[in-house]
Amino acid sequence: MSDAGADPASASEVPDTAKDRRLTGEHWWDPDRKRHVDDLPRHCPRCAAVLDLESGISVEYWEADRRIYHTWCQSCGWTGDIIKVDRMVGHEAAD
Ligand SMILES: [Zn+2]
Repeated sequence: MSDAGADPASASEVPDTAKDRRLTGEHWWDPDRKRHVDDLPRHCPRCAAVLDLESGISVEYWEADRRIYHTWCQSCGWTGDIIKVDRMVGHEAAD
């Protein structure tokens, strides 16, 4: 049987499962979303080319409490992980 006789208004109604969702305004995930955008790599670490949606890719993933941006640069082909650190622990170079 065809849907040609169905009420067109009912086809555009919001499904019951989505009626209580708030699609605009503040959300509980906003701090993570803002931190993601703030820390997103903007330049390639090898050639310094600008990284944006057309010139590269940075995908955030997590290992325990470390946030890692897997990044690819279209300009030079560099691919690697970029990790922001609050404190660097290293060795002291010999004199
Ligand atoms: Zn590059």
